[in-house]
Amino acid sequence: MSDHSPGIIIRVAVPVPLRHSFDYLLPETAVSQAVLPGTRVLVPFGRNKLVGIVDEIDPATSIDSSKLKRIIRIIDDNPLINKNLIWLCHWASQYYQYPLGEVYAAALPSRFRQDKPVLPICTRVWSLTEAGRQAGGLPKRAVRLAGLLRLLGQAPDGLTGQQIGRQMNDWRPVLRKFAEKGWVEGREGTASLPDKDLQRENPHRLNDAQQNAVSIILEHLDSFAVFLIHGITGSGKTEVYLQTMTRVLGQGRQVLILVPEIGLTPQLLQRFSDRFAVDMTVFHSGLNETERAQSWLRAKTGQARIIIGTRSAVFAALDKPGLVIVDEEHDLSFKQQDGFRYSGRDLAIVRARREGVPVILGSATPSLESMLNAIEGRYRLLELPERAGSASHPQMRLIDLRHQALEEGLSTALLGKIREHIDQQGQVLLFLNRRGYAPTLLCHDCGYVSHCKRCDSHMTLHMASRQLRCHHCGAEHRLDKYCPDCGSADLRPIGQGTERTEEVLNRTFPDSRVARIDRDTTRRKGEMERKLKDAESGKDQILLGTQLLAKGHHFPNVTLVAILDSDQGLFSTDFRGAERMAQLILQVAGRAGRADRPGEVLIQTHHPDHPLLQLATRQDYRLTIDTLLDERKSTGWPPYSHLALLRAEAVTRNKPLAFLQEAEQMARQTMGQSRLMLLGPVPSPMEKRAGRFRAQLLVQSGNRSELHDFLVKWLDQITGLKSSRQVRWSLDIDPQEMY
Ligand code: ADP
Ligand code: ZN
Ligand code: ZN
Repeated sequence: MSDHSPGIIIRVAVPVPLRHSFDYLLPETAVSQAVLPGTRVLVPFGRNKLVGIVDEIDPATSIDSSKLKRIIRIIDDNPLINKNLIWLCHWASQYYQYPLGEVYAAALPSRFRQDKPVLPICTRVWSLTEAGRQAGGLPKRAVRLAGLLRLLGQAPDGLTGQQIGRQMNDWRPVLRKFAEKGWVEGREGTASLPDKDLQRENPHRLNDAQQNAVSIILEHLDSFAVFLIHGITGSGKTEVYLQTMTRVLGQGRQVLILVPEIGLTPQLLQRFSDRFAVDMTVFHSGLNETERAQSWLRAKTGQARIIIGTRSAVFAALDKPGLVIVDEEHDLSFKQQDGFRYSGRDLAIVRARREGVPVILGSATPSLESMLNAIEGRYRLLELPERAGSASHPQMRLIDLRHQALEEGLSTALLGKIREHIDQQGQVLLFLNRRGYAPTLLCHDCGYVSHCKRCDSHMTLHMASRQLRCHHCGAEHRLDKYCPDCGSADLRPIGQGTERTEEVLNRTFPDSRVARIDRDTTRRKGEMERKLKDAESGKDQILLGTQLLAKGHHFPNVTLVAILDSDQGLFSTDFRGAERMAQLILQVAGRAGRADRPGEVLIQTHHPDHPLLQLATRQDYRLTIDTLLDERKSTGWPPYSHLALLRAEAVTRNKPLAFLQEAEQMARQTMGQSRLMLLGPVPSPMEKRAGRFRAQLLVQSGNRSELHDFLVKWLDQITGLKSSRQVRWSLDIDPQEMY
């Protein structure tokens, strides 16, 4: 770009909740400095200074430039964000109707939102000194010291902190001790390795279905295409990713991989780093601000070749993208549920199209949206119907709970089965999607129930901490001995949570180790990885967990899987309830069975004749999909229509509804002839939450562009409403949850 004239106007996207950008003049000292879109600048905004992103140079405007303020400073010499990423942020801002400046803020590591220069990427590489190599005779209990000594001893060229971190939790204090002892030295360097050593270990010989999938994807490496790999757990999807990546990495290009949750995928990360000797960047919650910024820069400069992260990694800067992968594409966590409510999966597809590269969506239970796209030919469906190696499908059976004796939610039939599998050296995995001891506490004398004061919800009893906790707003208080209403001491826990089930299991199987894996037992950093490792090694005979355990993980020693309470999911009011339930059952079933012993899956229910359970237990996902799609078609829900949900909340009950009623009236005027449907306004399914009343209005349309044309006009009107300033409101495009 040529030099700018002094009066040139720069349009800047500023991180404020206003749906337009702001115009500024260049700083006087910088009139001859070239500035490009994607560059960060410091601008005056009201009484504050904000870091914004240059969006447009010399925009068409009628504003008198003498009224404009000047940019205070240009922070970056070069744009931080390249053209394709700028394009993606614009696209997302328009599609999700969210302010561009805030989209940029969500896309960038937080360090770049501050008025600080971009650091050069320096990676410290640590290696043993002579003293370190000579070190020996460590006391027996110094396991961690010995561990790091061994790690570094095996790496003559040294290791980066990231590489150490992949092998060892909480490694920093240990490294610090090494430095104090003079055992290590650090130098600035890069950890990237030459391409000829790309592949470390020999890949598996693919079976026919895998080979077919890899060949088809490899034929399309130079252009955009969406591949949907539908393969049951253990069918070798990851191996397909890996072998496709070999080619892409070999071409010197980068691979971007989105996963639902990093903490749940240590096995997957390990397989990538075992297979490829290239710089791999993992965006996980353990990174501090600087590390995150550096990881981002390593991806931007192309030094990092494999980039893995959760939904926000879809905004990773890439130098030479070659392939995008979304693993477990059906997973809810790809959709952000507050603020900038984007779908990482959907943006991954938009991004791949822009970059001109293929995208692979993988799942054992693809979403109805993606399956319909495949059926209608927009995505290419690749099926992996068999388990890789020789493992066979698990057997699935329902346990009819009606008229059965129950020991705290466990039927005699199930207890017998657990005993049988343990006796045969099997491992047992039990699912109960409710943490805590019991979901309610009831007074037997007066009927008092522990209710949250701020939510339409019970307080969950947590026995270990002797507390009542609300899982919706986080309120907690100490468990009293006596009923707050009548003073009786006869307070009884009602229903089962994992804590209570753990207690029963310990009592019933005193010789077996029980591991409980839920949010409560894995809060501490590194605890999840440790528990998963123990579970995988077969140390624990019984694994008890919430939905956390249904994701991604494969336990080779598990021979019996049971769902303790499937009834919760059968009568959901959400139109996606049936889809979620079917996915959960198949995902859970996928955790069982190793090569030499087929697994067994048991589902406890009071409704054994429920059509959904009947369908799911046939383990034919295609049949399930076809049935559910038929239902959606006849009811007109997505994927046969598109939704936008306007939500509002306030501390009084009537304000959200009043606002939504006005919004509805505006909508009826604005929609004109377009075939939109308005549903509501109604109070949200859980009306009161964290002390606020919530209500919603749903907009449904059979036509995506018609819906969006309408939304743009409607939002402008809503923003002007006086009642809009008396509530907190938000618009959710393609909402996934209707609470
Ligand atoms: P998924 O990602 O579908 O769950 P994986 O790729 O993890 O499946 O494969 C499941 C298991 O089978 C892994 O232990 C993997 O190493 C192994 N595996 C994958 N493909 C093959 C193959 N072609 N031959 C033998 N074993 C395989
Ligand atoms: Zn009472
Ligand atoms: Zn609450």
